[in-house]
Amino acid sequence: MAEDAGPVKLSTPAMSDLDTQERVEASEDTTMAATRTLLKEAGLRPTRQRQALARLLFADGDRHVTAETLHEEAIRAGVPVSLATIYNTLHQFTEAGLLREVAVDGAKTYFDTNTSDHNHFYIERDGELMDIEGETIKVHGVPEPPEGMTISHIDVVVRLVEADPAHKSGRKR
Ligand SMILES: [Zn+2]
Repeated sequence: MAEDAGPVKLSTPAMSDLDTQERVEASEDTTMAATRTLLKEAGLRPTRQRQALARLLFADGDRHVTAETLHEEAIRAGVPVSLATIYNTLHQFTEAGLLREVAVDGAKTYFDTNTSDHNHFYIERDGELMDIEGETIKVHGVPEPPEGMTISHIDVVVRLVEADPAHKSGRKR
């Protein structure tokens, strides 16, 4: 019993550390609870890693990420996670309906936190994807889908390059 005196004394600073930690956690409680609920409602087990990645993805409004950009962000935020795990998680989130996959070219897949039906500008120089607001794109001449199939949605990616005034005036003639 006498040996317990040691640990008890030590527990005083440890407890104040805990208080600080609890305060930090309290400020993050809302987001933590929100991500847990989000994952559970999507039918995913809210593991620590999924929660950390969900917070990076969904805490700041709508955004478009690639596995690589999210991986960099996770490392910067001190979330120890491999690129392979990021890929798996992004695909799991997509299957669960939390993300929408936007294929821009064969080499790059973007994941959109806005799962609604919308189209995109793609700035080729920066590899950046931007939402096109509103329903400004009308697609004509969509072929009839084969029997038993229905169109889920049509993805339009409008590719942008920098306007080159010199080149433009040369074209005018
Ligand atoms: Zn989007």
